[in-house]
Amino acid sequence: MGRLLGPVCRNCRREGVKLMLKAIRCETAKCPMEKEYRNNPPGMHMWRRSKASAYGVRLREKQKVKRYYGVLENQFRRLFSMAERSQDNTGVALLQLLERRLDNAVFKAGLASSRRTARQAVAHGHFRVNGRRVNRPGYLVRNGDRIELSEREKSHKFVRAQLDDEAARPPQSWLQVDPQKATATVVALPTRDDVQIPVEEQLIVEFCSR
Ligand code: SF4
Repeated sequence: MGRLLGPVCRNCRREGVKLMLKAIRCETAKCPMEKEYRNNPPGMHMWRRSKASAYGVRLREKQKVKRYYGVLENQFRRLFSMAERSQDNTGVALLQLLERRLDNAVFKAGLASSRRTARQAVAHGHFRVNGRRVNRPGYLVRNGDRIELSEREKSHKFVRAQLDDEAARPPQSWLQVDPQKATATVVALPTRDDVQIPVEEQLIVEFCSR
């Protein structure tokens, strides 16, 4: 199972938007995006770079979404193929599929402090879906699915700290969370409005359809 490695704040600087990859640090003044001298694309001579081409603009939109959800190219292409086959608008369907990933649902429900943490917790078998252990972060949740902690004591310690901390997390229209039992139920499929990152999905479709 591949995952994105390397310095993560660099990704935000590259995309010019806060991707919120480091949990609490992202909300503080320590975030490099809050510092004027670091709020530039990474690398040397960034001020010499010319205006992005039409190709470059579309590439950046795709990379932004991939990095936000922490997926690799193959996983992204597989979801794009699924979106193309759907009856809905391809771009919206793609974002909905990404939003339905189990690691994203765990994060949005407040059971983990970031998508990266959620991904690791899922991969280590800390969560069950409908009573069955699922250790694939890319598992796509469906309407009616119930996400709960595994029985292990370690799982409860892991999540309890998050739930206590994350009381201020905005409620999600598609997830019903029970903080006492540390469970989340999918009450509807996510819509375009549930995707919080600013992205032009049509540009991604144009890039991937070349
Ligand atoms: Fe780093 Fe988070 Fe700031 Fe992105 S938003 S630059 S991951 S601290």
